[in-house]
Amino acid sequence: MRRKLAAGNWKMNGLMADLAQVDALMAAHPDPQVDLLLCPPATLIQSAASRAQPHPMMIGGQDCHSSQSGAHTGDISAGQLADAGARAVILGHSERRVDHAEDSETVRAKARAAHEAGLMTVICVGESLAQREALNTLDIIDGQLSSSVPDTATGENLVIAYEPIWAIGTGHVPGPDQIGEVHDFIRARLERRFGAGVGRSARLLYGGSVKPDNAAQIFQVSNVDGALVGGASLTAADFGPIIAAL
Ligand code: 13P
Repeated sequence: MRRKLAAGNWKMNGLMADLAQVDALMAAHPDPQVDLLLCPPATLIQSAASRAQPHPMMIGGQDCHSSQSGAHTGDISAGQLADAGARAVILGHSERRVDHAEDSETVRAKARAAHEAGLMTVICVGESLAQREALNTLDIIDGQLSSSVPDTATGENLVIAYEPIWAIGTGHVPGPDQIGEVHDFIRARLERRFGAGVGRSARLLYGGSVKPDNAAQIFQVSNVDGALVGGASLTAADFGPIIAAL
């Protein structure tokens, strides 16, 4: 059985004072029955990771470079994330694909570097509204999935987050059938490429406007193993009930 995973993506939000939310989250869930991952901005990773000890909550990054070191001003390597206490990294988020023109090949190279550094990767895929309306959703997901996931994936280090771009930060959430269709498709594609072992062990998260009041319904959908939560992960008051719904 796959362990459920609740992952929070703080994006470019959070100062040192906001780590009080991490403390509150751990206090509210001293012995979580699901895996927890919180990805604050890079400036907070080391502080968050040391605060999290010995609680099982994992701290992760939101991006890494595809090289382990070198002349890449402003970038952070997977090994540096791990050195700071991160155990995972989000890769290929649509905001990075758009803001930084990251294509799936770049995401795959980053994911390989992250796996080599021992990090779990949360690789994001998702269609735009125009792509959905043109009935291209599964083709888009198929292409992103096959190009973004490296051969270094294992059942433990691979997490896929399905994040429809039109659902991120908008309050619009796909219906259970729409989420289920994509998650079942991703599961089938992973099983075909990697075999049943990896394909059935990798966890699939839904992301996009997950809130305390819609989480339970989303978590009932087949092949939804948890959520990648943006805005509602910023406070323990919102993230806590989402974790409890898993
Ligand atoms: P929201 O939960 O704020 O819609 O963000 C989702 C997301 O992009 C998580 O990576």
